[in-house]
Amino acid sequence: MYTYINTIYKDKGNFMKLRFKIKRMLAILLSTAAALSVAALCACGNGGNSNNGSGNGGNEHTCEYDKGVVEKEASCTEDGIKRITCKICGKTIKITVDGGHKYGDWVIVTPADCANEGQESKTCKSCGGTVTRVIERTQHSFDEYVPTDEEYHRAECNDCGEGQYGEHDMKNGRCTECGYETGDTLGLEFESWIEEGYMLTGIGYNAGAKQIKIPATYKGLPVIAINDNAFDESQLLKSIIIPAGVRFIYNSIGEYPNPFAVCSYLEEIIVDEDNQTFSSDNGVLFSKDKKILYRIPMAVEEFTVPEGVTEIADGAFYGCSALKKISLPQTLVKIGKKAFENCRELVEITIPQSVELIDEYAFNNTSLLNATFEYIYYDAKGFNKYAMLGSLLKSSSTAASYLKNKYASYSFIKVDPPSVN
Ligand SMILES: [Zn+2]
Ligand SMILES: [Zn+2]
Ligand SMILES: [Zn+2]
Ligand SMILES: [Zn+2]
Repeated sequence: MYTYINTIYKDKGNFMKLRFKIKRMLAILLSTAAALSVAALCACGNGGNSNNGSGNGGNEHTCEYDKGVVEKEASCTEDGIKRITCKICGKTIKITVDGGHKYGDWVIVTPADCANEGQESKTCKSCGGTVTRVIERTQHSFDEYVPTDEEYHRAECNDCGEGQYGEHDMKNGRCTECGYETGDTLGLEFESWIEEGYMLTGIGYNAGAKQIKIPATYKGLPVIAINDNAFDESQLLKSIIIPAGVRFIYNSIGEYPNPFAVCSYLEEIIVDEDNQTFSSDNGVLFSKDKKILYRIPMAVEEFTVPEGVTEIADGAFYGCSALKKISLPQTLVKIGKKAFENCRELVEITIPQSVELIDEYAFNNTSLLNATFEYIYYDAKGFNKYAMLGSLLKSSSTAASYLKNKYASYSFIKVDPPSVN
């Protein structure tokens, strides 16, 4: 201590300064004895501002410590000790250097999802020790409610499939949450189809159902389409009810040319009155304006196509195995593909003069023996007569045999009679 004072004395050669230093050192000694605190301000001082401006109060200062000397390294399990020294007064104090692991960031080991908790861990950079913790399960992402029975609806988690049940909230015969209406057939199968709605693709477990009422909505969106094979599993179906929102009924050119062609016992197709695309009359499916006949129930034996119909759609009578007698109107222009295919009881037909196109396979696999084509036929004298198709085609075979044997894939367009000389 005296060496230090002497050094200062020699260096500065200033007695006042020496006296000042001595006073300061004494103060330090006192303060060290008085308190073993780590206060930045020496106990000899009395405030943050050590310069009181009077010139003789310099014995007060704020200690400025150096970086210090490590006396004991901190470890993962124990605190360390460091000794720091004031650059002004030389006071030294010991400070604690916090020990403990030096962990990196949390790293996900197993991500959490809505079905399972996850796990994450962090590793100490010093000792390599790790700690792990659980990541909470995420929220389920529930789909829209779908009715499960007359009382309940159910939403399914898109990610894990877990179900959430609720009771229908029926208002005016309709559930406000799932769209279930009294009498809707449950368990039908749908596929999301164009952004605005759903397509009926199958009847699910309803193979034995006698009636199917297609719901107006599914998962909160309207049912707008019926796929061509939606009723392939139907066996005993007698009645199908179609809601207002259906705008597309698919008609495949494959084995069954429309979705109803497999329903052997079908007696009626009923379309909601508010439907803007389709309509029904006596169980027959028509376009809204009744110009296109889409489908006749299969169980019919005799049928008169109403006046005003211009088109019998592809497969409209396909497989109507009971159909024996059919009358076509004078407004009819087109008979679609496979329209009467597999009508095995059909032995007689008269094609009105208005018909311009009979599409391929229209009468394939029928029993037509007597087909009359009310067609413009030109004989030697130029009279128009009802003619047989065979004549029109300049074939010696009769229309009936032609239809039976060769009509499989043929269309024809009406020709004008030649001018009479
Ligand atoms: Zn100091
Ligand atoms: Zn460690
Ligand atoms: Zn889930
Ligand atoms: Zn509901």
